[in-house]
This record gives sequence, structure tokens and C-alpha cells, in this order.
Amino acid sequence: MATALFKLTLKELQGLFTSGDVGAIDIARSYLLRISQVESKVKAYITMPEREQVLQEADTIDASLKQWRKTQPLMAMPLAIKDNICTTGIRTTCGSTMLEHFIPPYNATVVAACREQQFLFMGKTNLDEFGMGSSTEHSVFGPSRNPWNLECIPGGSSGGSAAAVAADECVAALGTDTGGSIRQPAACCGVVGLKPTYGRVSRYGLVAFASSLDQIGPITKSVTDAAILLNVLAAHDPRDSTSSDQPTPDYTRFVKKKDVKKLTIGVPKEFFSEGLDPEVEQHVQAAIEEFKELGGTIKEISLPTTEWAIAAYYIIATAEASSNLARYDGVKYGYRTKERKGLLEMYRQTRAEGFGSEVKRRIMLGTYALSSGYYDAFYGKAQSVRTLITRDFDSAFQDVDFLVTPVMPTPAFPLGEKLQDPLQMYLSDMYTISASLAGLPAISIPCGFSRAGLPIGLQLMGRPFEESTILRAAYAYEQATQWRKKRPPIR
Ligand code: GLN
Repeated sequence: MATALFKLTLKELQGLFTSGDVGAIDIARSYLLRISQVESKVKAYITMPEREQVLQEADTIDASLKQWRKTQPLMAMPLAIKDNICTTGIRTTCGSTMLEHFIPPYNATVVAACREQQFLFMGKTNLDEFGMGSSTEHSVFGPSRNPWNLECIPGGSSGGSAAAVAADECVAALGTDTGGSIRQPAACCGVVGLKPTYGRVSRYGLVAFASSLDQIGPITKSVTDAAILLNVLAAHDPRDSTSSDQPTPDYTRFVKKKDVKKLTIGVPKEFFSEGLDPEVEQHVQAAIEEFKELGGTIKEISLPTTEWAIAAYYIIATAEASSNLARYDGVKYGYRTKERKGLLEMYRQTRAEGFGSEVKRRIMLGTYALSSGYYDAFYGKAQSVRTLITRDFDSAFQDVDFLVTPVMPTPAFPLGEKLQDPLQMYLSDMYTISASLAGLPAISIPCGFSRAGLPIGLQLMGRPFEESTILRAAYAYEQATQWRKKRPPIR
């Protein structure tokens, strides 16, 4: 029985553990076996603990339980952490040469919160360098693979986390989302990914990409699991000045109802236009029908500024990135070139050797957008567009409770397909970026499969701090459909 534990959801595994039917050691063994079977194909992890270390952690949990029968939601649960979230004593690479050997002296607030619960640490997952990308191909450690088709991308930038969950190499994972990096890989890999409202989860200890957009959130096998993990992550943190002090509800309260009665669902017409793959559209439309069956009222709405979202995002995100990444100069920490030709040359060489081409492209774009003479034309303009996008959502949410859209314009594409064409890669985020710019909570849940057998995601976006509504609706949909029961072949 122990070998099949890796197939269970967090909620199911927790049930068995809390009732005493399985010990932490059984869980650890099951997952270590699974990882030994599939990780060489999926390549979800950058850094993994030694086998002995996992077993020892599990032993410690089992031993302490003998005297102390109380369990916490994450106790003994195998968790993976995206490798841009700081972990004490465990290297945090951001998928970059720049931080390849960086060992943080502190835990991110979210890691500390999970540690307190005594989860089982399974490893640090692969990502596009500093979170910049949509395919996990921009990692200096090489791409992760999609468990549904190993020749396809797992999405990005949290591709390692989504692939690890889909391939049962952990029961849940932490991802980060700046413009779609939780939702988009969740859609590609057929799992659940929740980007919380900006400010809901502490960013302390998350290596910054674009600080006004970055959020940490759960990637899980079910909507209930996302609520369980969000309960652990969501809290006010005095160490993050953008962290909200709004009270956090118990999110598991909202994953109980199997209908969406009394809810009005907005369908923004701009999200169903040119560029949307017909198969994706068909599944999303079928999902909208399902919401009607579940008692919801469907309303077509318009978000006219949607067409400017990508342009605004790629100015704002790159501008912030160019500033955040200025700290990597070979002096304070991280990579330093071997060249010794004076200070300025050392800076130059360090950055030339330490960053990959996508990161350099963004630093150049962002620096340009911020430079004097261009600031108003680019950065100022993008900020105005951001305000308009937020207003569009505000007025939509006067009439509807949440929005339903696709997550990605296409299912996962083959590895290498968009690598040489950055613009095409940026377009993969066209449906996820608006919620990021407006700081809204948004969830991706599976809503079907393409004829080629690749998962398709459905996005639900809610009002700020109303994770409750999208969790409720996502749960009702999940219960009414069978998508989550299908498993990836991994071959
Ligand atoms: N794909 C987007 C980008 O490349 C979003 C990345 C993210 O959310 N971290 O910027």
C-alpha cells in the first residue's frame, strides 16, 4: 500500500496520516520511490535532499508523534519549493549561473511557515531564470519536461513545481507568479495553481523579479489542497511592506458547496478573440456551460484595455527587473568573474557571464524604458495603462462575482518551438497578465484535454482578497467534472 501513497491528494494523504494509518516514513518511502522512477525523465528539481535526510526527517516526525498526537495540516506532507524562494542552508539558484552556489542564511516567511508545520522537504524546483519566461527553458540547468508529453514544455516559470505535482514527485508545491507563472504551468501540466491577491502572501525571502507584481502561491492536485496550503501561506508579515493586514479567513470553508448558485459569472469577450486555439476555446466554453448547470448566471462583459496588457506588463516588469537585478554585481554575493581587470570590468564581466540571454534582454529593455527622455513615453504610459486595466476590472466586478477565461492561448507547445522568438513566448501570457497588473486573485484548474492528450486550463479571476469566491467556484466545477482523475503517462 505504501507505494501508492504518492497518488493521493494532500487532503487524502493528510487523512491517512492523521488517523495513524500511515506514518511519515511510509510517505517518505513512497515519494522517494516515485522520484527515483520518474525524475530522470521529468527533471522537475534543481536541488534535492539526500535520501537519508528525507528518511531521517520522517523518522523525527514519527517519533515526536508518539508523545504528541496533534497534527498540523502540512505535517509529513511532501512539499517542493520553487528555487527562487529562500531556504536556509539550501542553495537557491533562481535557475541562474549568478546564484548557482548561493546559500541563503535565512528562510522566506512562507518557508518558515511551512517548516513550522514539519512538512517533508522534497526539493527546490526548476524555473526560468529569475522567473523570466513561460516554458522553463530559460533555466541554466536545462528545461523541465511536461509529464503528459515529455517533448513538450511544462509551462513556466514555475514549470518545475507544476511538473513535480503532476508527476506525483511531491504532493504540493510553492510557485511564484509575476505575470502568470503559477497559472500557466498549472494549466500546461493539468494541476491547480492559485495566484493570491497581491499582498495576501508575504514576499519576504522571494528573490525579486518585479516587486509590484510578484506573488507566491500554491500548486496542488486539487482545489481543496490549494485552500489548505493557502491557509498556511496567507498572513500579514511585518517584514514585507506590501503585505496586507486584512484578516485571513479559513479558506477550507469555501471548498464545500457543489454549486455556484447566486453567483454571476463574467465572460470577458476580449479573452475569446484572435490567437485562441479552437480546442482551448471549445473546452473553456464547455466549462462556462457547466457553470450555468451549476446554477450560475452568465454575463458577457467587456474589458476594453485587455489588448494593452502585454505591452504594459513588459515595460513595467522589465523596468522593475532592471532595478532589482542591479544588485548582482559580483561584490555582495553570487557569481563573480575570474577576470581581474579593474572594478568596472569586473562588474561587466560578472553580469555578462552570470546572466542568460533572456535576463539580459529584459535588463536592457527595462533600463531603456526607465532612461531619462523615455521614461514618460514608456514607463509613465505603461503605469497609466495599468490604472485603466484596474478600473476596467473594478467596473466589471460591480456586475459580476468572478470572471472565467482561458489560461493559455494554446495547450503546452513542443520544447524549443518559441525559444528563438521572444515575442511569441511573451504572447503565451496574454490571458494571465491582466490579473497580475490589477493585483487580483486568479486560479487555474483543469478543464479538459486536447486531442493530443495535453491538459487545458480554465482561469477564474476574483475581486481583490476574494480568494474565497474563486475557490468556491473552482471547487464546484472540479466536483462536477472528472478531469482531475486522469493521470499523465510519463513516457
Ligand atoms: N511569462 C511571464 C514573463 O516572462 C511571467 C513570468 C512570471 O510570472 N514569473 O515575464
